[in-house]
Amino acid sequence: MITGNLRDLYQQVILERYKKPRYRGATDPVHRRQRGHNPSCGDTIELTLQFDETGDRIEDIKFEGEGCAISMSSADLMAEAVRGKTVTEATETVDRFLKMMKGEGEFPKEQRKLNVMQGVAQFPVRIKCANLTWHALRAALEASGDEVVSNE
Ligand code: ZN
Repeated sequence: MITGNLRDLYQQVILERYKKPRYRGATDPVHRRQRGHNPSCGDTIELTLQFDETGDRIEDIKFEGEGCAISMSSADLMAEAVRGKTVTEATETVDRFLKMMKGEGEFPKEQRKLNVMQGVAQFPVRIKCANLTWHALRAALEASGDEVVSNE
């Protein structure tokens, strides 16, 4: 169970990312665009991705959107985590994140920042907020993008 100081720390990271996101905006050029919507909270997200010349590595990823602190900070942390990764690595990161939110495992040291979202997993209604951006990323990696993913 996550309590006390650790929970405060998690909340701090989430709020800090919400107020001062590092990856807000759109990539230039946009190779893929993916929107997502979480009706239960009203969060919307739009991811843009730029791939390298091989088309297999995410050169840049940014997000735009409106929503609660959890959905927005999750997007910012995700962009940081998958920037520079191959499509396969990014897909693995998505799977690991969604598993973690079900209480199965967490991230190793190199990606441990993502573990702050574990604090959210205690509140089932907010899990959709945290997962929205990850579902959108998976859709962006799998399909041609430009469809709205509904996180219900
Ligand atoms: Zn939300």
